[in-house]
Amino acid sequence: MDLSTLDDEWTIRQSGFDRDKANASETLFTVGNGRMAARGTLEEGHRGAVSGSYIAGVYDGHDSIVVDMVNVPDWIDTAVYANGTRLDVDTCTVVSHDRALDIAGGVLWRSTVFEDADGRRTRLDSLRTASMADRDIAVVRVEATPLNYSGELEVVTGIDGDRFNMEALPVYPKGRTFTTEQKWAKWARSRHLATQSTGGADGTLTLATRTLGSGIDLAFATVAEVSPAPSRAEVVRSADAVRQRTVSSVAEGETVRLDKIVAVRTSRDVDAVDGEDLVARASAAARAAAGSGVDTILAASAEAWQRLWDSTDAEVVGDDKLALAVRSSIYHLLITANPDDPTVNIGAKSMSGEGYRGHVFWDTEVVMLPFYVLTQPATARALLGYRHHTLEGSKRYAAAGGYEGARVAWESALTGDEECPKWSADGEIRIWTGDEEVHISSDVAYGIRRYLDATEDREFLWEAGAELLFETSRFWTSYGQTDDDGSVHYRQVMGPDEFHFHVDDNAFTNVIVAWHLRYAADTFEEMAAEDAARFAALAGRLGLAADTPAQWREYADRIVQPVKNDDGVIEQFAGYFDRDDVPITQWDENLMPIWPEGYDDVKADETQMLKQPDVVQLMLMFPDEFDKESRLVNYDYYEPRTMHKSSLSPSVHATMGLTVGDHTRALQYFTRSALVDIADNQGNTCDGMHIASAAGTWSVLVNGFGGLEVRGTDLFIDPWVPPEWDALRYRFHWRDLALRVHVDHSEVRVETLGPDGATLPITIAGNEVVLAAGETTVVPLG
Ligand code: BGC
Repeated sequence: MDLSTLDDEWTIRQSGFDRDKANASETLFTVGNGRMAARGTLEEGHRGAVSGSYIAGVYDGHDSIVVDMVNVPDWIDTAVYANGTRLDVDTCTVVSHDRALDIAGGVLWRSTVFEDADGRRTRLDSLRTASMADRDIAVVRVEATPLNYSGELEVVTGIDGDRFNMEALPVYPKGRTFTTEQKWAKWARSRHLATQSTGGADGTLTLATRTLGSGIDLAFATVAEVSPAPSRAEVVRSADAVRQRTVSSVAEGETVRLDKIVAVRTSRDVDAVDGEDLVARASAAARAAAGSGVDTILAASAEAWQRLWDSTDAEVVGDDKLALAVRSSIYHLLITANPDDPTVNIGAKSMSGEGYRGHVFWDTEVVMLPFYVLTQPATARALLGYRHHTLEGSKRYAAAGGYEGARVAWESALTGDEECPKWSADGEIRIWTGDEEVHISSDVAYGIRRYLDATEDREFLWEAGAELLFETSRFWTSYGQTDDDGSVHYRQVMGPDEFHFHVDDNAFTNVIVAWHLRYAADTFEEMAAEDAARFAALAGRLGLAADTPAQWREYADRIVQPVKNDDGVIEQFAGYFDRDDVPITQWDENLMPIWPEGYDDVKADETQMLKQPDVVQLMLMFPDEFDKESRLVNYDYYEPRTMHKSSLSPSVHATMGLTVGDHTRALQYFTRSALVDIADNQGNTCDGMHIASAAGTWSVLVNGFGGLEVRGTDLFIDPWVPPEWDALRYRFHWRDLALRVHVDHSEVRVETLGPDGATLPITIAGNEVVLAAGETTVVPLG
């Protein structure tokens, strides 16, 4: 396989094997199709490898403190032996090693030359993908070629069900360090799977397993063809794995090829039929796919990928590194979301690693949803659908605390129940986020609003959105505390800035809750006017009365609103200005703040230092509520006090920096956000992608530099292209139109695609224009 033929603009490359960086590369080289994903671990593994395959929505709580996204059977599992020597980086010398992730088509390529102790060289090439055209199917191709000898090649491939999740690294005396290899070996392991059966008949290997706590059945089937036909073949079954072993005699320069087709079915698939034989269905799917062959599967997947890029591509023109980083971000957003499954969502590390155990946070609605809403509306709908699917869990959560309605869990997984751990892994720190980051219930409402504004999908509102909005509104009116003067307070909460807990009247929370209640009230009345009979049925089912909107508005009016100091700075929460104002005076090589001496994330609570934006986050989310002066004053106050200890932070500052004219810092923040995983600049890419940062990166390019702003239902494009770049391009959807924007230093050009006669009023660089389907509109800049 000649990796040099891949297009550089669409390829992430790596040469040489670096054990210390291998785990981060495994994350970066994840392949997936939104339904399943597999980390980019070498087919044969290596000592210290952290392999993982995941299926969206497959969670289990057996053997671990809170529910995990299950590390499911490994369907890649392939090793080659040359004259009895295992070809891997631990046994052989690595003569050359190249990997390339083709992000245009979602295929991971590899070419490695191994040398054994006797100087025999073998080239191992591979490719793998999870098909974007058929989300049940994945393929692996491995080719082995003896370069300077003739001999026997043995190919062992199968399905390995002997899997576990990483639970925690035991706590050792301070100062004790481990090599990467030791570290992973010493990690505590959680079992989540019990193998039910293995099979190896008619050229199809199968493995059925069940999650121990949640009882989800999984079936894997694979058809593995070796060519030219091997001289010997056998099926090897063990308690938790099934493999096929073939032996071929090969002449120097001749290639043995393995084409492996994998099919996956689970009992929680959206199209699962009660009582169906999952193994039979997976086997039939694998055999049917094998009938058409790997190349056909690859071609169909490539076509599906092309369609995805047609609506999502965004590009920095003139900076290849950033251009690739942006596209890599989009790639990871595309392989982790599934428009066809409204019962699953995106974990904070996508399906590329076990960080945050695959739990779903506010990251989805506030940071990621804008990307999907504007490029993949069907996916946005499915993601919001998950909140409806888990509504019963949210109701249980509210009821357990003595509240009404639905409280969205800070960390949600299978059921919508709160999955946030109460203590840090070492047991030293009480984690309050699950108890106190209540704002998430309104973040979901905010996501619904953004989706509806962009799509006018009223049916979603009727089917799911309204119930979510109304049940969460009920929660808020029971969660607030009413003082004697009638004022409503939200006390003992945590805003987005997680350095400060047990705070009262957090500005972000109070503003978004008041907005939420008013929005719910407006929606109630709009729906009642739109279809009185249908609405009466809904209101009856939910037990809502005709005066509910008035009550919600009245309650919203009494919620204490943010206090400003004389300069117009909004106080983040009651008493924030009284905390120690500890200046940040040192920055690292990425220009990110270094802790002032004596401070850390626990002690930061006593100070005004922030983990991530809070007031600034609020201003970014509600652009029409804060004028430019107010944004500037607050950005100027909070930005120098922000430690950016969340990867969500830099992109928010980049976009806000651009709106207030802090262009230099905006570019720095954008770069930081864009490179967070490609350069592993937080040092924890091994745990999985910072997927919200990937979406934040897209947002900075499109909403920040690209200047696309949505205010209610009005659209604005007010771009700024850094002098270092030649231009930028992005695509987005609005209602039934697809828009392609090109901005350079002299003009904005918008190509509008859509049904004949469709138009869209928009303000571009201060000029009110009307875009029309089939036309290209040009507005000069400056
Ligand atoms: C951030 C949260 C975020 C979570 C998951 C935390 O470090 O503070 O805002 O939701 O990570 O990404």
